[in-house]
Amino acid sequence: MYRDPEISDDIRQQMVAWRRDIHAHPETAFEEHRTANVVAQALQLMGLPVHRGLAVTGVVATLKNGDGPSIALRADLDALNMQELGAQAHASKCVGKMHACGHDGHTAMLLGAAAHLARHKPFKGTVHFVFQPGEENEGGGRVMVEEGLFDQFPADAVYGMHNFPQLPRGHFAIRTGTMTAFLDTFEITVTGKGSHGAMPETGIDSIVVASQLVNALQTIVSRRTGATESAVVSVTQIHGGDTWNVIPETTVLRGTVRTLDAAVQARTKAAMQQICEGVAQTHGATVALDYRHGYPGVVNTAAETAAAVSAAASLVGEAQVHTDIAPAMGSEDFAFMLQKRPGAYIGIGAGEGANAPPVHNPYYDFNDNILPLGAAYWVALVRQQLPV
Ligand SMILES: [Zn+2]
Ligand SMILES: [Zn+2]
Repeated sequence: MYRDPEISDDIRQQMVAWRRDIHAHPETAFEEHRTANVVAQALQLMGLPVHRGLAVTGVVATLKNGDGPSIALRADLDALNMQELGAQAHASKCVGKMHACGHDGHTAMLLGAAAHLARHKPFKGTVHFVFQPGEENEGGGRVMVEEGLFDQFPADAVYGMHNFPQLPRGHFAIRTGTMTAFLDTFEITVTGKGSHGAMPETGIDSIVVASQLVNALQTIVSRRTGATESAVVSVTQIHGGDTWNVIPETTVLRGTVRTLDAAVQARTKAAMQQICEGVAQTHGATVALDYRHGYPGVVNTAAETAAAVSAAASLVGEAQVHTDIAPAMGSEDFAFMLQKRPGAYIGIGAGEGANAPPVHNPYYDFNDNILPLGAAYWVALVRQQLPV
């Protein structure tokens, strides 16, 4: 069991209220206006200067207490485009939108930490509380960075946290280096020569070329990626043809690539290009590869990971801070902040009871029992990194 966090009862109750209010009113990428209002008003009531408008709906508040280092703590504001099926009193009031990833809880935990730190000021230096929009698909974290987040709010390091329903409550999980995958997407357009379905010899069959590409692309992982390296290449869409007796001029393939480091990512992209050109040449078709870089990997720096481990261990003990977890093939746009500043992203256990729904499940609900521990983690990190 862990030590009961030092967060006071009124802040605990306030965190539950914020969390459930935000949960009932989910908003998606760059439309988190109501959520941003709730966050900004709460921070203003704590007496903090509040900046709004980075990445449209981003909110940043700054708490300064004398001279010292500066630190940025980040939470995410957005919900998902999916229908909630749970029946709690605070279930989503918006059809087709739902807080199924726990960003409502992340926001409440960071607000709770801000309330505690503003009241007691147990540190020397500057804390920036960063609430970002659009984590799920739209890269709100990237937009905040591009719009000058760290120029306007200089920080020596930046930290993020996500709830992990598969990890028991009272545990944390983190690793040095890559924590989440690099997410890329691709679109391959195969152009042959359209012809009558009965006379393929008069054309170049884009469907046959595309089919060979699907198979050839599988050799990137099976034959070109080392057994101890990681990559996923998935063709997830094939679009070609409209009727029975026409060989289509073009066929389009789409899919996704996931890797765990930039070198394997670059090699995978180059191999795709080579295979596209080779298969095209074999058949006299043309093949155009449009490879799009999505979210980079969350790469935790060593010193900041050690700081995060130490802060978490001060609350739950070293045995319940797992530092050897495998990287996840999912992605997270906190990566863009980590490209600009050293920092660390930690998972906080939210699992309780049997069969807790995973994130992005229509029955998922953030576990309010972890709100005090999450807020206490932020407080512990600030006390440790910004000592009096
Ligand atoms: Zn999510
Ligand atoms: Zn999430």
